[in-house]
Amino acid sequence: MDCLFCKIAKGEIPSKKVYEDDEVLAFYDIEPKAPTHILIIPKLHIKSAAEITAKNSAVTAHIFEIAAKLADELKLKDGFRIVTNCGDSAGQSVKHLHFHLLGGRDFTWPPG
Ligand code: 5GP
Ligand code: ZN
Repeated sequence: MDCLFCKIAKGEIPSKKVYEDDEVLAFYDIEPKAPTHILIIPKLHIKSAAEITAKNSAVTAHIFEIAAKLADELKLKDGFRIVTNCGDSAGQSVKHLHFHLLGGRDFTWPPG
């Protein structure tokens, strides 16, 4: 399967890693939208948030634990945002589930 984030997860394409374990990889976004912009992905290929099921949801819970840990370590004390774009209308450009961890600036609400 030709999936960019599967290749990054396997180390076939380099990335600037911030966290890795058997299930999850976190790495810096190549085109940051905030002073801190990290992508957190399951190593398992899941297409999007629409494909989260009872069978694979544990990794998503784990991703949120890692997000909290990274936000603490990176001192995002004033707040941060976790976003997953799901599907074309939401602007999902890479069809492998990923959570954006954004911080270091103020964010508007609602998002555009
Ligand atoms: P999406 O648009 O699907 O929500 O998010 C995909 C993200 O992946 C974008 O923010 C984009 O900048 C990032 N991205 C795309 N290609 C690469 C890459 O090769 N390396 C890294 N580190 N990030 C990438
Ligand atoms: Zn994939």
